Amino acid sequence: MLTVLTEFGATGSIAGMRPLASFPEVTAVLGPPEKSGRISDDQPWPQWFQYGDMSVEVCRCRIINRVSVRTWYESVRIPTGRPGEFHTFEAAPTCPQLSAAFSAAGVPWQRVKQTHSLPQFTIETDIAGLPGVTVAFTFTTGETPDAPPLHSAHAVEFAHECPEDSAPVPG
Ligand SMILES: [Zn+2]
Repeated sequence: MLTVLTEFGATGSIAGMRPLASFPEVTAVLGPPEKSGRISDDQPWPQWFQYGDMSVEVCRCRIINRVSVRTWYESVRIPTGRPGEFHTFEAAPTCPQLSAAFSAAGVPWQRVKQTHSLPQFTIETDIAGLPGVTVAFTFTTGETPDAPPLHSAHAVEFAHECPEDSAPVPG
């Protein structure tokens, strides 16, 4: 999982899922998602789509706005890049492990200023060559403050705005 997450921090991408990518191109490679739904009940878009323990949020233009990985489970399923196939990982890396892997791979990272008092903190990376996209990694400090495990990771874009006058894409 450390390798996959280091790559996620460097590129914002796992198995072809990254912010600003086209979601139809993802389904062409990975097949249909396991689950999907609306983000808000009263609007048809955006929607979320789930593959194992990864999910993406997609706007009505079928552009991926956000890619999330939940790692707080004992076992975590991440798509391999082939339809219906997953890697299963048993334990999430800790902050010292992941930050060392970023440094070794030349991926700049920084700690995010905390605006809450929850027992967690976040570090983030910027994606080289992909302005407007950051990847945030949140760690929980409750049980093992010296080696906080990764709780979740999110790649988010701030670059795309849906054109106001375009009709929703059918389908
Ligand atoms: Zn859009």
